[in-house]
Amino acid sequence: MTTDDQQALGHWINGEHCTSAGGATFTVFNPSDDSPFSVVAEGSAVEMDLAVQAAHDAFQTYRHTSVNERERWLANAAAILEERKAEFVDLLIDEAGSTISKAQFETGKAVSFIRAAIGMVRQVSGKTLPSDYPGRISLTWREPRGVVAVITPFNVPLIKASRLCANALATGSTVVMLPSEHTPVIALKFAELLSEAGFPDGAVNVVAGDGYTIGDSLVTHPLVRSVTFTGSTVVGKHIQQLCARDNKHVTLELGGKNPLVILNDATLSDAVQGAVRGMFMHQGQACISSSRIYVQKGIYPEFIKAYTGAVSKLGVGDLRDPATIIGPIISDRQRERIKRHIRDAQDKGANIVVGGDWEGNRCRPTVLTNVTEDMECHAEETFGPVVSVYQVEDLDEGLVAANNSRYGLSSAIYTNDFNSALRYARAIESGMVHVNGPSVTDEAHVPFGGVGDSGFGREGTEADIDALTELKWVTMQTKT
Ligand code: NAD
Repeated sequence: MTTDDQQALGHWINGEHCTSAGGATFTVFNPSDDSPFSVVAEGSAVEMDLAVQAAHDAFQTYRHTSVNERERWLANAAAILEERKAEFVDLLIDEAGSTISKAQFETGKAVSFIRAAIGMVRQVSGKTLPSDYPGRISLTWREPRGVVAVITPFNVPLIKASRLCANALATGSTVVMLPSEHTPVIALKFAELLSEAGFPDGAVNVVAGDGYTIGDSLVTHPLVRSVTFTGSTVVGKHIQQLCARDNKHVTLELGGKNPLVILNDATLSDAVQGAVRGMFMHQGQACISSSRIYVQKGIYPEFIKAYTGAVSKLGVGDLRDPATIIGPIISDRQRERIKRHIRDAQDKGANIVVGGDWEGNRCRPTVLTNVTEDMECHAEETFGPVVSVYQVEDLDEGLVAANNSRYGLSSAIYTNDFNSALRYARAIESGMVHVNGPSVTDEAHVPFGGVGDSGFGREGTEADIDALTELKWVTMQTKT
């Protein structure tokens, strides 16, 4: 896609593309070389209001659509996405800077998330309850909340759009999505696809633009009843405050500084593989990447040797070459933060065992040792291919260190001792924990989310039935 041979791609409101009131547009850049990738309409509070109004109007009829219809539209959407996988893989490479393996993984996950949402449609149910009063029939049912604001990040734009739109639509709500300003095209194309799958006009709307400027107009819109946000902790907390003020339901999926503990009795090859996969997928731009690795001292020298050997071989080539693992960092702002973290660590005495340098917009996978608490990379999310490896005495020290974080999203441990694994799983303060598997993993039906500064609430098919519907208690008095 180039800027010369096309008009700006419009917002998706009420089943069609539309321009902004003043005709404002912005350019989306390909992160590989910062060349223009697309020109997109730039929204304001005006377009946001139009989108919310369209979603609200659509909700009045959409909430009454039959389970058969919703199942059919979701099944169609999954089938169309699977058929057009190559197109979305291309978008994920050129707009989001994904490697082909990450783009294929993400597209496959998106299909599976939509398929899993089909199963939600018939799970939206209630209970019959006993009553204190003779003859009273007492029951509960679930009602969709209404217009759901779906706010998505740049790193996994299709995974988040597919899961959050599909789950909201499955449970009878309608959606206004605000995608990252770096990846609006993927969101707009996905909304078109949902329309092609049969979802009525207005069921899903997308407004493109700068979230920092227009996000509040979505979150605080009186017709928005629920907000599901994925992004940085700082923006998430701001949204949480706005939602608390207006008493709106909110789910937050935020940042992480995820620990991986490796004990002496771990299978070294598995631990190395898990530490590589768990850290460097999408060049470390993953909320669940294992950016803190705590290795017990007996296995530390061997681990460092094997790990740095594997890391230094990670491919930094053509994004369409399956051997490439490390792609570009999305924007100048993110690149600057990664550079600052590496520089700060170096200045304060950390060792760069491997990496630390850049090739264009790509940061070579970087392993740091001798990292101390006063370094930015120790506690803050770097969101790039930079990992700190620490030596610990035993599981106890590893646990204390792992829990010494304001975040608590994902975590992992490699050990062949059942008791150590279980102790870790119980004591670690995180929403998710994986034994002998990488911290980077997700499935449609699991409760995905974190504690502390990593989030509020969970997402997933079961969790979203709870999050996206309101329970109503109903009684009917009969004669006894
Ligand atoms: P970001 O917070 O900069 O932006 C996320 C989204 O929020 C974007 O769509 C942006 O337009 C929007 N936004 C910005 N200001 C807003 C406001 N005032 N009101 C409403 N929306 C606003 O995050 P990012 O840089 O796109 O993504 C990276 C972050 O996302 C990392 O911290 C990462 O850990 C986190 N993340 C978390 C998960 C998870 O599931 N926990 C998954 C992916 C990414």
